[in-house]
Amino acid sequence: MKHVILGAGPAGVIAAETIRKHAPNDSIVIVGDEPEPPYSRMAIPYLLIGRVGEAGTHLRHDADHYAKQRIELRRDRAKRVDTAKHEVQLEGGGSLPFDRLLIATGSSPATPPIPGIQGPGVHSCWTLKDARAIMALATPGARVVQMGAGFIGCIILEALAGRGVKLSVVEMGDRMVPRMMGPTAGGMIKDWCQRKGVTVYTGARVESVDRPEPPGLLGKVAGAIGLGSDKGRGPMSVHLSTGQQLEADLVISATGVKPNIGFLENSGITCLVGVLTDEHLQTNVSGVYAAGDCAEAFDMVSGKTIVSAIQPNAAEQARVAALNMVGQVTPLKGVTQINVLDTLGLVSASFGNWEGVPGGKHVELTDRAAGRHLSLQFADDRLVGCNAIGWTDHVGVMRGLVEGQVRLGEWKDRLIADPTLLMQAYLARAQAQDARALVRA
Ligand SMILES: Cc1cc2nc3c(=O)[nH]c(=O)nc-3n(C[C@H](O)[C@H](O)[C@H](O)COP(=O)(O)OP(=O)(O)OC[C@H]3O[C@@H](n4cnc5c(N)ncnc54)[C@H](O)[C@@H]3O)c2cc1C
Repeated sequence: MKHVILGAGPAGVIAAETIRKHAPNDSIVIVGDEPEPPYSRMAIPYLLIGRVGEAGTHLRHDADHYAKQRIELRRDRAKRVDTAKHEVQLEGGGSLPFDRLLIATGSSPATPPIPGIQGPGVHSCWTLKDARAIMALATPGARVVQMGAGFIGCIILEALAGRGVKLSVVEMGDRMVPRMMGPTAGGMIKDWCQRKGVTVYTGARVESVDRPEPPGLLGKVAGAIGLGSDKGRGPMSVHLSTGQQLEADLVISATGVKPNIGFLENSGITCLVGVLTDEHLQTNVSGVYAAGDCAEAFDMVSGKTIVSAIQPNAAEQARVAALNMVGQVTPLKGVTQINVLDTLGLVSASFGNWEGVPGGKHVELTDRAAGRHLSLQFADDRLVGCNAIGWTDHVGVMRGLVEGQVRLGEWKDRLIADPTLLMQAYLARAQAQDARALVRA
């Protein structure tokens, strides 16, 4: 059996290793388009603050790991998938035949169409190449303007603050992490960041990035076509929709990502936002699977398919896809929106349907002075989503209740009267539910 895996990120690597474990004689090729050994983007913030070197971001630390596992790593880029011929065409020329194909190509930064954003001094924080460019410019005292304060944006913010830069963050939404947190929680995170010395502009867009004219004719030509070095220039001017103007030595673009699925156009593989998969991570084409940031999988809590671009989901989807690729029929238990964020020491969490569902009940408790906030959303007697700030001890309980779709019974009303009883509700109901499941088994 020939397995071809497109993408050498965590999803691709975990899938390859899982296939090898269960199918010792199958052939496995991973096609990856980045020059470095497979690495984890999650480790980039640690690289930025000097806690690890580049090698510390690599997913596997033994140089012979892939060879020992008889996993071929091929540096190339998939150009097209021919599902009728069961082959992948590669940008480097040639093609790869497959019996089973896994699409694990992840996602890429979605750069907004802002004048000046393509020029020098503006970087995403997505790849090791980006990290090197950022480390060269984000020196202590450098003026950094970051566009976007979503989940990944807040992780990058934390690393940049750790480098001692003078940081301003510009977020289009009316609050920080607007797709993860409600107004109260998002506002509390903003206040916290400002108290820690980060200037945060919410409800503001970057409208243009202007650079000082480079000296000399060649410099002017290079500047006009967006080329040139990041260094040796004066600061850029970043213009905001609010009329404000910020000076910047570095601009970071963290305005969201989009799945890498362009090469699947006309392949017959159904894509919505990402590659649509069934409960076995198989696409509409038999033998073709998808996992990770590029995949759209079923979310039990919302009852919809979603792209959930976080690493634990990528890893689990890859494991389940691989088992199905070797013929071990295994359903994905579902993806859940799980986000836990540590922003300059303030821990926030968001699970499931945190915005609530039509007809559902909601309770909220806020203690700004103590830096604590809890918002619970119910549908019938289940907790379907929540937002929390400062309730670090309860993160596991919240996740368990939301993911487990635990029937709370009379505990729902008790929680509405006093949301701080979460732990007691979990012990009373989730464990009772588990015990009932054990008795049935
Ligand atoms: C700075 C940062 C911090 C993060 N922190 C966290 C965190 O704390 N927690 C968390 O859960 N998640 C975090 N994430 C998100 C996490 O990194 C992703 O969810 C994870 O990388 C997804 O893994 P993947 O294998 O699906 O995709 P990727 O890691 O993106 O790997 C996909 C690979 O496929 C390659 N590729 C794309 N197109 C092709 C093609 N046509 N042919 C061949 N190869 C191709 C890509 O270049 C890439 O190498 C962070 C991300 C970033 C950038």
